[in-house]
Amino acid sequence: MKKVGLDAGHAGFNVTPGKRTPDGEYEWNFNDAVIDAAAKRLYEYENVQVVRTDDPTGRTDVSLAERVRRANAAGVDVFISAHHNANTGKWGTWTGTETYVNSPKSANPNSMKLANKVHPKVVKAYGLRDRGIKDEGFYVIKYTNMAAILVEGGYMDSSIDIKKLRDSKVLAAAGKAIADGVADYLDLKLKPVKKPVVTPSNSKQHVVEKGDTFYSIAKKYGMKVDDLTAYNARIKPTELKVGDIIHLVKFPGTDKPVPKPAPKPKPKPTKPKGPKAIGEITIVNVSKAAIIQDRPDRNASKSLGTVAKGKKMKVTGSVKGKHSDSGYWEVIHNGKLAYITGEYGKYKAY
Ligand SMILES: [Zn+2]
Repeated sequence: MKKVGLDAGHAGFNVTPGKRTPDGEYEWNFNDAVIDAAAKRLYEYENVQVVRTDDPTGRTDVSLAERVRRANAAGVDVFISAHHNANTGKWGTWTGTETYVNSPKSANPNSMKLANKVHPKVVKAYGLRDRGIKDEGFYVIKYTNMAAILVEGGYMDSSIDIKKLRDSKVLAAAGKAIADGVADYLDLKLKPVKKPVVTPSNSKQHVVEKGDTFYSIAKKYGMKVDDLTAYNARIKPTELKVGDIIHLVKFPGTDKPVPKPAPKPKPKPTKPKGPKAIGEITIVNVSKAAIIQDRPDRNASKSLGTVAKGKKMKVTGSVKGKHSDSGYWEVIHNGKLAYITGEYGKYKAY
């Protein structure tokens, strides 16, 4: 069993002074995203255990000495600390990814070997300038007693790099790159990917028994007969034999695709044609009949016919019109709108 120490630099939630972007984002959040992805990827390898040396909740800024103590006490085989750089703390165009080993390089050959496995992958993941592998006596890589590196993924105060740091896919890729580099260094093997094996024994099927019909089988499994016959188009329903294998689900490659039922045409809403009546009038106040006018204007209208006293007409409303103090009834005559002088109609609403 190999052990990997993973360390997200600093902490979040206002417990670390500084260590933020000019917009106030915590460095720890970027570091944590990388370390978290590295841990997830490492567990895709066999015989490996991750030891996290920072507070994975980000609520405590674990001291550098404590981080080192945890790594040494757990006896991890490698130690990786993830950080993101800052230059002036104000937005600028400095850029790039760098990896640190304890100084001098010549005195830390294992750390250099680890850095050489991890750094190129991480540079590729961020897609930023390669600032190279450097040496510096940073506390966590100086006092840990195993191969140890510190990755500065990119500049938090760079208008170029911040785009990468704010992209969760980039941070996830950086974490995966660290894990894959570590796996290469430790010679870890990926776990075999288990694929579900589909065999006839676990596919859904029915073996025909004496007396079975497509209808009885469909009924037994709560299926539609049409679906069942479609899934088994290779068998004629009239030639069903005992021992035949009947597919209860669509079985790729062996049968014709199930034809989709043609969509039923939606019934069109039946709109009543022509004007809609709201009531009726009875013809009154005339000697024999009232004139049905083509417009609400006694003087300028054309006669469409007459309607006898006492007869009823359907009314759609009333209008003011011209040349009648009593206005006009808007009536339905032969399915079209027509007009009767107001005083000739006695109205009753429906
Ligand atoms: Zn840092």
